[in-house]
Amino acid sequence: MATKISGKKERLILAFGRTLVPRCQATNRRGEQCLKAAIQNKSVCRNHGGRSTGARTEEGKRRSREANLIHGERSVQGMLRAREDRVRIRQLADAVRVLGLATNVKRVRGKWPEGYQPIEDEAGVLDLVQKLRIRREG
Ligand SMILES: [Zn+2]
Repeated sequence: MATKISGKKERLILAFGRTLVPRCQATNRRGEQCLKAAIQNKSVCRNHGGRSTGARTEEGKRRSREANLIHGERSVQGMLRAREDRVRIRQLADAVRVLGLATNVKRVRGKWPEGYQPIEDEAGVLDLVQKLRIRREG
């Protein structure tokens, strides 16, 4: 009996039921799942690129990255941007607490993001404002 996940069968019975092997996950030109067994440790058969090692040239790798990019949140730039945002959120919370603008602002808990310098006095708040101004203008 083959298991069915997301419409495609994952296993294929061979040798009259004596062996169960992974089935090719590719779709043929009729839109049906390929009937062959997948190559060992791969998800598709040799006809559907099971022996392929992927893009080899730098140009090919770049095109593959661009074609498969979904949102970029896990790209190097996206993770650096997210880290910068975490630093900024902590520093703004520090600034609000230092200036006494809100009474119920607690320190943000958890691991400090890389590059975070706690803001402890009004001079630190001024530095932060200067940095944010430079960022907005630049
Ligand atoms: Zn196939």
